[in-house]
Amino acid sequence: MLSPEERSWREQRMTVIRKYEETERRADFINDEEIWRVLESKAHPARTEVEEVLAKTRELKGLTPEEAAVLINCRDPELLEEIFATARWIKEQVYGNRIVLFAPLYISSPCVNNCAYCGFRHTNDAVTKRTLSTEELEDEVRILTSKGHKRLIVVYGEHPVSDIDFMCHTIEKIYQTRNGRGEIRRVNVNAAPLTVEEYRQLKEVGIGTFQVFQETYHHETYRKMHPANTPKGSYRWRLFALHRAQEAGIDDVAIGALFGLYDWRFEVLGLIYHAMDLEREFGVGPHTISFPRLEPALNTPLTTGSPYLVSDDDLKKIIAILRCAVPYTGLILTCRERPELRRELIRLGVSQTDGGSRIAVGGYAEMEREHIPDREQFQLGDTRSLDAFIYELCRDGYIPSFCTAGYRSGRTGCHFMSFAKKGLVKNFCTPNAVLTFKEYLLDYASPATRELGEQVIDRYLEAFARQMPRRAEALKGMLARLEVGERDLYF
Ligand code: SAM
Ligand code: SF4
Repeated sequence: MLSPEERSWREQRMTVIRKYEETERRADFINDEEIWRVLESKAHPARTEVEEVLAKTRELKGLTPEEAAVLINCRDPELLEEIFATARWIKEQVYGNRIVLFAPLYISSPCVNNCAYCGFRHTNDAVTKRTLSTEELEDEVRILTSKGHKRLIVVYGEHPVSDIDFMCHTIEKIYQTRNGRGEIRRVNVNAAPLTVEEYRQLKEVGIGTFQVFQETYHHETYRKMHPANTPKGSYRWRLFALHRAQEAGIDDVAIGALFGLYDWRFEVLGLIYHAMDLEREFGVGPHTISFPRLEPALNTPLTTGSPYLVSDDDLKKIIAILRCAVPYTGLILTCRERPELRRELIRLGVSQTDGGSRIAVGGYAEMEREHIPDREQFQLGDTRSLDAFIYELCRDGYIPSFCTAGYRSGRTGCHFMSFAKKGLVKNFCTPNAVLTFKEYLLDYASPATRELGEQVIDRYLEAFARQMPRRAEALKGMLARLEVGERDLYF
């Protein structure tokens, strides 16, 4: 039950949202019938049709919803292998073998919403909600930086205790918290949609990306999952959340769908239409796309009983098709997935992922507890340490990256996209990845990871020296400076 104070805050929020709904002139770009029509028009694609789409994919210009529907409806095992191979090829072309690493930091879980799938919904008394004090927040940040993290995504419920002032205060605190050489250099945010004015406040404190998942693009399912008398009940408020963020000058925005609430094929097209609409209005699509799957949560039967739960094989398809459809948009995989599956999924086009994650509020202070179901929003599939995960990435041939240089050098939004299209990765991102990985190896890695990581860097330097000898010399010079104690060097 909500307290009178919570109820009144929720009412104020709903008033803001209702007013917005009356004045928003943008047209809803998700047309459910149209999406089903597109999917059905390509229900049985011929082999040649799939091959034509794959040939176009290799031009790196992205796909139309119709073209994506051809891949979505492809069931031929041989052609599916070709889709996966194409996705791997794009990942290699656009992102190289870099994987950007971050950690989620849950700051506050009380929430006035009642989403059917979420452990934090306000009627779920089986999960204890809590908010970090300033001291606890600093402790969590020190623990994360002591493991080597430089990038966070901070998570809040929608509630008076975690209003915009609280968000700004906590983000400022995170940037100020130092731990020897450890520091957080980029804070991304996952929170409820805000007003343009509130987004401006967040921009002032220097956030990176603002992330909002639509959860489901299907209108009727959205209504079923999100009660109408809650802020989240407004589909349009959420659908245009990131348009408002862009209006406020936050030019790295992140979209996603919670797979398992409705038919995955519909949601993939929903994501593509969303990306297209952002690009149409702002000249730049989303910075990243996420594809979380519904995970079990305490006292939340929908999470295990939904008729739309997505299989591992379908998740592979989802990732590969998104990689083909939006080649320059980052794809984020999370520790929701199990270790052995993550290895496979990463190869299909993932560019960012988390490691060593805990998602209970205050969970890093109790790192030894892999799961704390009565304090978590849902249960994680991969609870390995960051170091163990990095070791595996190195063994699989990746360069782990903690890089935040692009954002601090203004390579965001459309600047990022134009750079990306002109070889940003080879010139900037991979050398910067190597510099931040070297910092990790020097300051935080276990002896085994350090040994393997140094081999990864050596192999990369040999190849880089053949391709771009002058850049490689500059990079070697910077690596030497890191060895003697300098930090935070980047191109
Ligand atoms: N409260 C804010 C909101 O809903 O936008 C932000 C934080 S919410 C804690 C972050 C995301 O967690 C949601 O957008 C949803 O997609 C995801 N989530 C909620 N319940 C989940 C579950 N059972 N399994 C996997 N992901 C879940
Ligand atoms: Fe609240 Fe977000 Fe959970 Fe919904 S998904 S109940 S808005 S924390």
